[in-house]
Amino acid sequence: MVGDLFLKNFLKLTIQFYSGKTQLKIARRTRKKVIAMPLPVGVELVFAAGATPIFPCRIGDYSSMPFLRIARLYQNLFGWNLLTRGIKFLRPFVGTEFFSEVIDQFLINLYKTYEYYIDYAENEGAPLDACFGTRLLLGAIWPQLKNIHATLGYGTRCNWFSKVFEEISEKQPLVLIEIPNVPAKHGEEMMIESLKIVIDKLEKITGNTITNESLRKQVLIANKIKENYLKILEIWSKERIRLHPLTYTNLLSLLHIAFTDFLCNPKFFNQTLQQLQQDLQKIPKNGGYDTSDMPKLILVNAFGGYEPHLPEIMDNLGGRLLIADWEVLKVLTPIKTQGDMIENYASALLQFEAAWMDNSTLVDRYISIASKYDVDGILFNSIYGCKSITPSLRLFKERLLETDLVLVDIGFQNIGDNYEQLKTRIGAMLELIRERKA
Ligand code: SF4
Repeated sequence: MVGDLFLKNFLKLTIQFYSGKTQLKIARRTRKKVIAMPLPVGVELVFAAGATPIFPCRIGDYSSMPFLRIARLYQNLFGWNLLTRGIKFLRPFVGTEFFSEVIDQFLINLYKTYEYYIDYAENEGAPLDACFGTRLLLGAIWPQLKNIHATLGYGTRCNWFSKVFEEISEKQPLVLIEIPNVPAKHGEEMMIESLKIVIDKLEKITGNTITNESLRKQVLIANKIKENYLKILEIWSKERIRLHPLTYTNLLSLLHIAFTDFLCNPKFFNQTLQQLQQDLQKIPKNGGYDTSDMPKLILVNAFGGYEPHLPEIMDNLGGRLLIADWEVLKVLTPIKTQGDMIENYASALLQFEAAWMDNSTLVDRYISIASKYDVDGILFNSIYGCKSITPSLRLFKERLLETDLVLVDIGFQNIGDNYEQLKTRIGAMLELIRERKA
């Protein structure tokens, strides 16, 4: 059973998530520049420049989704404040199952639109051997060029990212954050210089100045968002949880994407996450779900894209799935707010790059987060075309010999490609974990 309070906050997030087109219209009306965000890195800079950041896949046409039509109807009829009353009122008419469907179908609905973007990218000549995530990015940005004023890009170790940003820069302005791939202490000066160039570009595009104070203000609210996000991850790892395990994983899937642009509204995003995490902490007497005999797996990695049925497959086989890329990549680490904000921000960017500067560090990060959340195994998402993270598989296997963690390698190229194989592989892995624990 999904509690009304949780449902209210989840619906708020869902409505806001699928309102990318409306958010673009608001940006146009208020004369704000729109910056496409492929990753959450740099989102505070964009807000500090008075622009609207948007994860391009949220701009799709979601108006025909039946659950969204109902969710919007709620909002229009009852507004945010009376949404709980609205849910109570409509529950007898649409049934409790409808609400569970709304949540549990979240990822599958979203990925239906992703298929359209992938086809679009391929028809427009995107490289077919690129990873799913980068093809998706091209497919989502290209049709929106007239609505977006620039894209935030990253000079990182990922060669497909570099290629994609090169392609985008031929068609529209690109604000490239060059992050030196060196240990944090050595790269500070280079990073500060590079950051100043980024700020200068953002200022020229938006016509606004990024001051120490405007950046501090955005970092303060972003830090609160990160704190709430981390609490939601921590609650996930408990043995007794308030939500059905599948619903919880779907919430993590939503947050993973929503965090990229704070749903265009940091204040709203922060308040809703705060209410959500407080609600998740309160488990009614005789309520909640005992997950003590459900093996827990962490997904490595989610940001390159993954099969949308994974959470459902895991749930049917009696397991639970953790999606925690942003914590692994240190994007959820709070940024210092005292003193010079450019220096503070530069050091956060270096931390991000340092978390995956080489595969040995990346493997350590995933294993450390797996142990923090008491996870039993690694679901290794071997993403076709990825020459950066996928080759870390061998290293994972070696490192795991020193731990109790088990690993299963699941390939991923396109949605729905290997559904049956996934079920077999994950099923065998969960059996192995259960035998070890018996
Ligand atoms: S999956 Fe690999 S190739 Fe794709 S964006 Fe991530 S690191 Fe780059």
